[in-house]
Amino acid sequence: MQETKDIYQSLGISKEVYDYGNKILSELEDRFKIIDETAEYNQLKVIKAMQDSRVSEACLLGTTGYGYDDIGRDTLEKVYAKIFNTEDALVRPQITCGTHALALALMSNLRPGDELLSPVGKPYDTLEEVIGIRPSRGSLAEYNISYKQVDLLSDGSFDYENIKKAINEKTRLVTIQRSKGYQTRPTLSVERIKELIAFIKNIKPEVICMVDNCYGEFVETIEPTDVGADLVVGSLIKNPGGGLAPIGGYLAGKKECIENAAVRLTSPGLAKEVGASLSVLPSLYQGLFLAPTVTASALKTSIFAANVYEKLGYKVVPDGIESRHDIIQAVTLGSKEKVLAFCEGIQKAAPVDGFVIPEPWDMPGYDSEVIMAAGAFVSGSSIELSADGPMKEPYNIYFQGGLTFQHGKFGILSSLQSLVNKGLISL
Ligand SMILES: *Cc1c(COP(=O)(O)O)cnc(C)c1O
Repeated sequence: MQETKDIYQSLGISKEVYDYGNKILSELEDRFKIIDETAEYNQLKVIKAMQDSRVSEACLLGTTGYGYDDIGRDTLEKVYAKIFNTEDALVRPQITCGTHALALALMSNLRPGDELLSPVGKPYDTLEEVIGIRPSRGSLAEYNISYKQVDLLSDGSFDYENIKKAINEKTRLVTIQRSKGYQTRPTLSVERIKELIAFIKNIKPEVICMVDNCYGEFVETIEPTDVGADLVVGSLIKNPGGGLAPIGGYLAGKKECIENAAVRLTSPGLAKEVGASLSVLPSLYQGLFLAPTVTASALKTSIFAANVYEKLGYKVVPDGIESRHDIIQAVTLGSKEKVLAFCEGIQKAAPVDGFVIPEPWDMPGYDSEVIMAAGAFVSGSSIELSADGPMKEPYNIYFQGGLTFQHGKFGILSSLQSLVNKGLISL
């Protein structure tokens, strides 16, 4: 048999980089074991939800036209509701992406005169235009829905005093972003989200607590809706789609919140009754089935990346040893050249478009140029191995995904090789 290092070499990975990676990897066994245990729990949680919802072969067929009585769609929504421990869910290919799912949740559950509060600092970039932090056509601000924000304290903890002050008679919905997104603040654990929600509900019990769950699904054995969140929202081309879902978003939560979202997505009176699933259901079901182990692979990849770059002296968030609450890894590379080289290396490891060189561009919804490396089967899917970074100080790269750890490992080694080849890092 050929040796593994030889096939790495044929893919451009030098023996030096390969050995460096394996040395790092040998120290991560115990952590990987814990991740596998979480994956095992979540795998069973998903199977139980599917069995309890009586998923059948007929559920995989799909509908066209209006999509009345789409048993596959309706059952999938039951499965999501069981997994997230909620009264109801809305899981649709008509929800085009995570931003759309979040905008839908906000625009349908807020009314003119209401106020939205983010007690965890600035939300994800694309939400700035949804909320109207950056003036934008159709934003919540245009509908007279105001916005308040309380930043985290410098040590990353909640600013309870100012959160209390910010809650007023207009506050109708609180949005809590679990993942750090394009920031270097820590990601929130479900346990911390629980504390925050308890504090807020204690001041105003009727406020809707929504969690932007993007990148957090299946990282822990509990989800925010297990600990008091009224609504969780996310994208199917991230964790819960398991890499197979070609499109879609989900909302899971209180019946009323979901009903509000359904009438907004389709139309008052029609709500969840319409919305043909076309032919996407097999991949939504199978992707959900794979999601726990795919999320585990992505987690291992990001822990491996953290340790590879931390030991080379780069600031990494989360660091090499701390516990994980999402699949994103931030590395502060510090220069444009390094960000470009890193992304080139990730791209070179891709099964699709492995021959192209990524370039920064003005992506819709972002306020600076962004570079993205992704050679994905599903365009833009960030549960697949991908890296992106805004082209601005301090030149962070945000790295995520990996449908298999073997691919994730190769991708990280390839990023390192690219930096080494360009003389930007020496081992
Ligand atoms: C990805 C992401 C979004 C937006 O999702 P898109 O599918 O890219 O529109 C929102 N919030 C967080 C935390 C995310 O990671």
